[in-house]
Amino acid sequence: MASSAYQGPVFDMALAQFQDVADHLEIPEDRRMRLFMPKRTLMVSCPVRLDNGKTNVFQGYRVQHHLTLGPTKGGTRFAPSVDVGEVAALAIWMSWKCALAGLPYGGAKGGVAVDPMELSPRELEMLSRRYMQEMIPFIGPHTDVMAPDMGTNEQVMAWFMDTYSMYQGKTVAEIVTGKPVETGGTVGRREATGRGVAHLAFRAMEEIGLQPQGATAIVQGFGNVGSVAAHTLAARGVKIVGVSDHTAAYYNPAGLDIVALLDHARQNRILRGFSNELSIDPAELLIQPCDLLVPAAMERVIDAHNVEKLRCRIIAEGANGPTTPAADAVLDRRRDEIFVVPDLLCNAGGVIVSYFEWVQGLQQFFWSEDEVMERLYTALDRSWKQVRARATKDGISNRKAALAIGVQTVRRAKEVRGLFP
Ligand code: NAD
Repeated sequence: MASSAYQGPVFDMALAQFQDVADHLEIPEDRRMRLFMPKRTLMVSCPVRLDNGKTNVFQGYRVQHHLTLGPTKGGTRFAPSVDVGEVAALAIWMSWKCALAGLPYGGAKGGVAVDPMELSPRELEMLSRRYMQEMIPFIGPHTDVMAPDMGTNEQVMAWFMDTYSMYQGKTVAEIVTGKPVETGGTVGRREATGRGVAHLAFRAMEEIGLQPQGATAIVQGFGNVGSVAAHTLAARGVKIVGVSDHTAAYYNPAGLDIVALLDHARQNRILRGFSNELSIDPAELLIQPCDLLVPAAMERVIDAHNVEKLRCRIIAEGANGPTTPAADAVLDRRRDEIFVVPDLLCNAGGVIVSYFEWVQGLQQFFWSEDEVMERLYTALDRSWKQVRARATKDGISNRKAALAIGVQTVRRAKEVRGLFP
């Protein structure tokens, strides 16, 4: 690929995965970049007056990957690591994920390079509102719809929605998903990703003949996705033996008190301070023996250094991009030992229920939690069957099968629509 504005290890990873699957699908070289390169990107500077009276400027981004199937859709991340390459990779993965789930969206992603934990509530609100205000010319409920991701939550979505609506002179709830229910959000969205991860972890257990009752799990990341996944797994009898966040990691082979951990995280926003005796080196946590490993924090945590040491039977990827291509090659070789539920499939519950929220908002007709959950599990099971069938038919990994279905769906739509002008 000719040099581009999009760079960095996460972007390189998205490209390597794409080239691998494009080889498998025998996509001609000259058709590849039309599928892979993001359609458009907005970079903004967001000045915010801090509580100490000084002004800080935060860099913000939004990448829309392709517009072929409908509006773009994707989360907004507030994290120090955010740069345009990372956001572009996440937007590209969203495209394949939406296509695999059969949603009428292209992928998008946005982010601000900031540690939200270092901002006061007022500063966080000012930054959220300024970022959204800068985005107004670029997005819209039929153009690009935002959602939460790492470092953002329902409250941030409510500020986004309020800011956008104030500029339109009317309430436009459909501009974001993952909003509080009081502002037009859907029941079940907050829990959707974590519950979906647990649902597919149970499917994987069925597949390898493992009973949930008494199975053991380690969950990395205890935010929206990780905490809900851990809670849902524990409710069906899975013993959570390890958890971590960016401040602490705990391990107890006899099982951790998940309710106490959830309470601690709710009150303190972090896991640090929960226990001294149970602490473990975060890197060591990932390689402890367990039946199920759930990376639910960030990218590139399963890599060439630790993949051979993993002692789990299932990896259920709650995070986006937690496994590097080098580690993936090893997992492919260890396919009989470790069953991988790849991110595109495993964490799709979030965007599926976001789609439900968007549809409910457009129609102003709201569903019950039972309806949302039933439709979510039906959608995930459909994707699960497709991925398993494709992996078996082509003799490829679940990840490659998920990518192949996603890429092929977008490719077919582009071919049928033709090249403009
Ligand atoms: P969040 O901000 O709610 O939680 C992130 C968690 O990861 C926090 O507990 C944080 O402390 C922890 N973390 C950060 N760095 C860590 C490290 N080095 N080691 C261990 N833990 C670390 O974010 P989230 O919404 O739960 O998102 C987590 C992952 O799931 C991201 O990869 C995100 O892209 C992905 N995802 C989220 C959704 C969603 O609906 N929120 C949907 C699909 C995928």
